[in-house]
Amino acid sequence: MIEKPEGNDGDEGSERPGWADTDFGVARLNGKRAKYLFVTGGVMSGIGKGVATASLGKILQARGFSVTVMKIDPYLNVDAGTMNPLVHGEVFVTEDGGEVDMDIGTYERFLDLNLTKEHNITTGQIYLSVIEKERRGDLLGKCVQIIPHVTDEIKSRIKGIAAKYPVDVVLVEIGGTVGDIEGLPFLEAARQMRLEEGFGNVINVHVTLVPVLDVVGEQKTKPTQHSIQELRRIGIQPDAIIARSKRPLSETSKKKIALFCNVEERAVFTSPDVESIYQIPLILDEQGAGDYLVERFGLRGSSQPDWSNWRALVKRFIEPRYSVRIAMCGKYTELADSYVSVNEALKHSGAACDSKVHIDWIGTEEFEEDEEGLELLRDYDGILIPGGFGARGAEGKIRAISFARSNDIPFLGICYGFQLSIVEFARSIGFKDANSTEIDPYTKSPVIDLMPEQKSINLMGSTMRLGAHRIVLKEGSMAMRLYGKKILTERHRHRYEVNPRYLEALERGGLVFSGMSEDGLRAEIVELPGMRFFMATQFHAEFKSRPNRPSPPYLGFVRACLERRLGRSKP
Ligand code: GLN
Repeated sequence: MIEKPEGNDGDEGSERPGWADTDFGVARLNGKRAKYLFVTGGVMSGIGKGVATASLGKILQARGFSVTVMKIDPYLNVDAGTMNPLVHGEVFVTEDGGEVDMDIGTYERFLDLNLTKEHNITTGQIYLSVIEKERRGDLLGKCVQIIPHVTDEIKSRIKGIAAKYPVDVVLVEIGGTVGDIEGLPFLEAARQMRLEEGFGNVINVHVTLVPVLDVVGEQKTKPTQHSIQELRRIGIQPDAIIARSKRPLSETSKKKIALFCNVEERAVFTSPDVESIYQIPLILDEQGAGDYLVERFGLRGSSQPDWSNWRALVKRFIEPRYSVRIAMCGKYTELADSYVSVNEALKHSGAACDSKVHIDWIGTEEFEEDEEGLELLRDYDGILIPGGFGARGAEGKIRAISFARSNDIPFLGICYGFQLSIVEFARSIGFKDANSTEIDPYTKSPVIDLMPEQKSINLMGSTMRLGAHRIVLKEGSMAMRLYGKKILTERHRHRYEVNPRYLEALERGGLVFSGMSEDGLRAEIVELPGMRFFMATQFHAEFKSRPNRPSPPYLGFVRACLERRLGRSKP
């Protein structure tokens, strides 16, 4: 047998174990080389492939294995930052300032990992670097082609992650649906990976939909069969199938899928509709997914999965004693996916307070014409204004903030919500025309203004103030009580900030800047003492919230909402 080098250097063209000498990759590789688990999707998008991928990672973690997860997005944007959240869902921000696909957020939450911008590959990035190489002359004399140049670039990025972050298993979710033209180079790269890395080191899992015809209640497996035919045409035979369906698959459906899709029956799993996504790892593991992965990968040293903590956590998500109702006031109201991390952070906080959190989406534009409409906010336990851009709906948001402040309704403002709460407060203390220059570039009181370093920026992609920055808290503040420490880091995504010229006047008016950037120049948190809960943050605390460790500002907010609901006084 060939001796493998220590670790995985992600080097292209090194020894390529074929099927014959892999011995399922176990003994020879001594667990020192990463295993790869590719997840593809069939039938249609939006069936929970991200959650399925994260759940498989969780199942491996529960057995003591280390994992990391990558997301491949087959679109030409270089990153998700320039896409409309209404169409594509939330733009998630990583510690290192990557504007990435929202699935990265799902992985971080399930697996309690901090991922990086390198964990999210797009077609745009791949082509950009292949074309740059061609222009530099690195490929001189070559006819630059999808195979091998584009596929090599894809593989080297995947192997690069395995080399940089050594783990037992690298999970790679390929976005889109099998059959999409855009996805082909990525599927081809996955096909080649199995050949290069060895059969025992690469598993392909296909996530598909099994619809039920209401009239007869029959589970239809044909779309799955077709989807797998398409996958096999490309050269990928899936090892396991996760079928999304309303109810668990019947024995007949399972047998049919196994037979027609050429997959072992024990490797056909169902992911049924559930109350909380955090149940999925448990449900898949109960069906034997973990044992299957360990056996098929030949992973050594697997311990009995320890689900005790996770199970207790899930219980708090699905069987809470109380409930709170929160009004989320924004613009992208149609699609809950636009603020998935905000929703999750609220749910995490709810679970910690034994509460279910009901979120109603309220379009703020109506408040601009109909002040009376604001009254409906009175029925809520709290008001949240999330991040956003542009003038549309902004005046309505300001009115909602004013309503929260004057009626002492718990309020949390995030990023744009933070900036507008400053505008609202400034107006209330006499700066009648206070505004953000994002809304009115000619305002006489620009309390929110473009950050100085932003003024010379013309390119839109990845040029905001992004990612983790350090924040220093004020002793004795609500923020400090919530965080329980003085210095922290949170993630950012903005171009505007509180204009430092107004800091003093705002403070004199009663606003407390309880969190500042490390250099003391940039306002990060404001709060209003003497109110039940009035806090706003320039950063997006939701990105760091975890199911078992809710983000402090969100927790403080939900707790205040619950206390108000239960009729108690201040927190
Ligand atoms: N539009 C504001 C800015 O660019 C807020 C951004 C946000 O809410 N993410 O600063």
